[in-house]
Amino acid sequence: MTMSDTIEKVKCLIIGSGPAGYTAAIYAARANMFPVLYQGTQPGGQLTTTNEVENYPGYKDGVSGTVMMMEFQEQAKRFGTDIRDGWVTKVDFSGDVHKVWVNESKEIHCETVIISTGASAKYLGLPSEQKYLQLGGGVSACAVCDGFFYRNQEVVIVGAGDSACEEAHYLSKLCTKVTMLVRRDEFRASKIMQSRVRNTKNIEILYNTDTVEVLGDGQVVTGVKVKNNVSGAVTEIPATGFFVAIGHKPNTDIFKNILDLDETGYIINIPGTSKTNIEGVFVSGDAADHVYRQAVTAAGTGCMAALDAERYLAAKEAEVEA
Ligand SMILES: Cc1cc2nc3c(=O)[nH]c(=O)nc-3n(C[C@H](O)[C@H](O)[C@H](O)COP(=O)(O)OP(=O)(O)OC[C@H]3O[C@@H](n4cnc5c(N)ncnc54)[C@H](O)[C@@H]3O)c2cc1C
Repeated sequence: MTMSDTIEKVKCLIIGSGPAGYTAAIYAARANMFPVLYQGTQPGGQLTTTNEVENYPGYKDGVSGTVMMMEFQEQAKRFGTDIRDGWVTKVDFSGDVHKVWVNESKEIHCETVIISTGASAKYLGLPSEQKYLQLGGGVSACAVCDGFFYRNQEVVIVGAGDSACEEAHYLSKLCTKVTMLVRRDEFRASKIMQSRVRNTKNIEILYNTDTVEVLGDGQVVTGVKVKNNVSGAVTEIPATGFFVAIGHKPNTDIFKNILDLDETGYIINIPGTSKTNIEGVFVSGDAADHVYRQAVTAAGTGCMAALDAERYLAAKEAEVEA
């Protein structure tokens, strides 16, 4: 067997199986691009970790994240997407043909690549936080997604950056009280975001404050134990929700020094498009989005990526024919 026998050629390779990847697959398959999609280690993406999605249009009664993503998968399959298990471990976008390696061995040569590798929310890592996160019992990393479940209740949010301020302010409109825990004696957020939370009546800011433990009854969160890291005083704050807003990590390590990334690692797209700095390589979903981070925006950019890829291939074919 020669090397070229083992290398697979693919018109459109999609990396990732969240809302962005599956939406790209639906559009690419319907445009006869014969997409091959690698699911990675989290088939269905981040939404499979949530019990209830209430803000995705079309599901008027809400839907479990896992069920919703199974339906995305079925829809992508229906049009012929080749859905596979596997983790993309290396890419080389330096030549005309884009090379991608799966599970460190299988080599694929792609005419177009759509990156939909998403991002992961950062958590504090406390056992109690992880326990209630797994139980779906009151720990969340997304105020826009889950704030609604805590209407007229008291919540705690940890974080000191712009996103934390944005999320605290969002929660303040739904909840009776928001306690914001800031580890240092100051915010990292911009002045304007700081003043927004400071000027909101039902947000209380506790500086120099560490989270010691997320308290609960074994099923749901009932409060948060905190410690002032200057005075050493330990107190308990009653709360039904614990929001973690300490940042996200985009799943883009394999693209470092290959694609243009911002300082956090988000892939930089050409504004208003899904194009990256490499022709034929497109990005969709949370891998390029540190602002909205929603299923519907991920799906929307998945659609854009497939359309951009289809137009790129059409232009290339037209060049060859001319
Ligand atoms: C707990 C929770 C609740 C949420 N609730 C809501 C909600 O109610 N409504 C809402 O709109 N949004 C919600 N979100 C946000 C939403 O899940 C994300 O915005 C959305 O999933 C992003 O989609 P994506 O396709 O970009 O990436 P993801 O869903 O993150 O999927 C990334 C995919 O890429 C794959 N992957 C990564 N690296 C590789 C690799 N090297 N090789 C192969 N595959 C790879 C992973 O296996 C995964 O399948 C929630 C998020 C969380 C964490």
